[in-house]
Amino acid sequence: MLVIEGLQKSYQGKKVLDSVSFSISPGEIVGLIGMSGSGKSTIARCVAGLENANAGKLLWNGRSLKERAVRRMSHQDIQMVFQDPRNSLNPAWTVRRSLLESLHQFHKSINKQGFIGKMESLLLSVGLNTDYLDRYPHELSTGQCQRVCLARVLAPEPKLLVLDECLSALDVSIQAQMISLLQELHHNRQVSYLFISHDIAVVAGLCQRVLVIQHGVIVEEAGVYELIHHPKHPYTRSLLADTP
Ligand code: ATP
Ligand code: MG
Repeated sequence: MLVIEGLQKSYQGKKVLDSVSFSISPGEIVGLIGMSGSGKSTIARCVAGLENANAGKLLWNGRSLKERAVRRMSHQDIQMVFQDPRNSLNPAWTVRRSLLESLHQFHKSINKQGFIGKMESLLLSVGLNTDYLDRYPHELSTGQCQRVCLARVLAPEPKLLVLDECLSALDVSIQAQMISLLQELHHNRQVSYLFISHDIAVVAGLCQRVLVIQHGVIVEEAGVYELIHHPKHPYTRSLLADTP
């Protein structure tokens, strides 16, 4: 579904991604771990089309994401959730407005009743109900804001969610609820995830396969059990050793 080959990215002449290659199959949950500054968010932004790579191939269902028509399709198919849900939501918009804007953008031919039905089922699918529709972001907890962000990115019925540290701003008990929610959404909707996190325990609980990035280079790629129990690269071992 997503194939990345030899991705390179530099900022001001400094290489931050070097020959990054990996793929994600339909329905797969792939983790991406590495220390701060290693290039995780840069990969996320390139995949989500928010950043252009300097070199390399990004293929979506076998076609280059550089093609305009493919980009248009991927704009709907690939959605991204960021670390800070409060900064991701428009503070002047109610939950209703945030969801309607997203639904309008991607479902042009549904009637008003259809929109309302979709909006309600989106809210329910992220564990909220219609009582939240008229609330502004400042009237929601951070965890509830992140649920609204998830509902909003589910509106276009994406095939791949790029989740960039989407649990990091939440406290541990809320993180656990969100992991269950992500597992449930994956099960019900067969969405793939590129799940980026510092937290190896969370990655181990959610992901099937894991990529390890160091200074812009993928140094190891393995099934989650293999990675945790038989890490091959010294950098992976050091990351695991730092995990409580
Ligand atoms: P973190 O875990 O802290 O979020 P990360 O692995 O997501 O880190 P990136 O945000 O991808 O790291 O950054 C990789 C490198 O690229 C860093 O050295 C960063 O300073 C640099 N970088 C990222 N964005 C830009 C930019 N727009 N301009 C210049 N340098 C940038
Ligand atoms: Mg980052």
